Amino acid sequence: MKVIKLLEDRSTPIFSFEFFPPKTDEGLESLMETIGQLKGLEPSYVSVTYGAGGSNAGKSLDLISTIKERFGLESMAHLTCVNSRADDITKVLDAYRDAGVANILALRGDPPAGSREFKASEGGYRHASELVSHIKKNYDFCIGVAGYPEGHPESKSIDEDIRNLKLKVDAGGDFIVTQLFFNNDDFFRFEEMVRQAGIEVPIIPGIMPITNFGQIERFTSMCGASIPDTVRNDLSDIKDDADEVAEYGTEYALRQCKGLIERGVAGIHFYTLNKSMATVTILKALHLSDS
Ligand code: FAD
Repeated sequence: MKVIKLLEDRSTPIFSFEFFPPKTDEGLESLMETIGQLKGLEPSYVSVTYGAGGSNAGKSLDLISTIKERFGLESMAHLTCVNSRADDITKVLDAYRDAGVANILALRGDPPAGSREFKASEGGYRHASELVSHIKKNYDFCIGVAGYPEGHPESKSIDEDIRNLKLKVDAGGDFIVTQLFFNNDDFFRFEEMVRQAGIEVPIIPGIMPITNFGQIERFTSMCGASIPDTVRNDLSDIKDDADEVAEYGTEYALRQCKGLIERGVAGIHFYTLNKSMATVTILKALHLSDS
């Protein structure tokens, strides 16, 4: 089922969970347990990331197929332009289509480790908007694109970033999933600017419950999201107690979700990091599941 159809048919916000392909068999086993626990929450779909460097296309496809076979869940495959020519991308898209995947999150990807600037591969694509055009021209996938409530780290301004976001949507993007953020006001400001720019497609905010202080510092420094001073101060007192950090992070994310739902968001995308506990607690507390 296409995500855009799920969004159109919804009477309440839709929920989705993001996973990454594990590197080891143990990691895969543990992810299967996680998905087993999350399945009861009836996510509208799950998404599977695409390895940095584009080297793990097979792993993403295998994981999507396994999730479909074992759990019968709808999926969205992430896809980047990194280290890929247009015909490489075509091969990956053909495989997703043949596996029955209906949704693609079309991304440029980050520059490979060690380089600061993204360079298109020869015969490849420079911007996600070009990937969106390629997909739209050749396939019938529902296409998601990425949005950045605090601006993409390479952009000079949020205005410029939103102009580029519009290129992706005009090229055929059906909906937007955002980068993680910890201040809902950043999301609401972004949403307002997106609408003012004439972009009308649904926007799904991305939420990452904090479960580990060091890890969240690494993530935010890579993706350009900021940690509010209050959160940083609160965490600095408890950062060595894993349980307290997880409890704090889950409660914080729950408050964010409540605030977003009150303002009528179309859905929430959870960055699960292949763990279930925080997401289960949050969705149960939102009374949107009885499992
Ligand atoms: P683009 O939309 O191409 O934008 C990248 C930069 O270029 C921005 O600064 C933009 O303003 C600028 N730009 C865009 N078009 C133009 C133009 N025509 N002219 C000039 N400048 C332009 N990465 C992975 O490797 N694997 C994943 O699975 C993955 N999943 C993600 C999921 C979500 C929800 C999000 C938000 C990000 C994800 N990423 C993933 C990270 C993503 O690949 C990076 O943020 C990457 O740096 C940008 O990708 P993009 O698709 O937003 O690129």
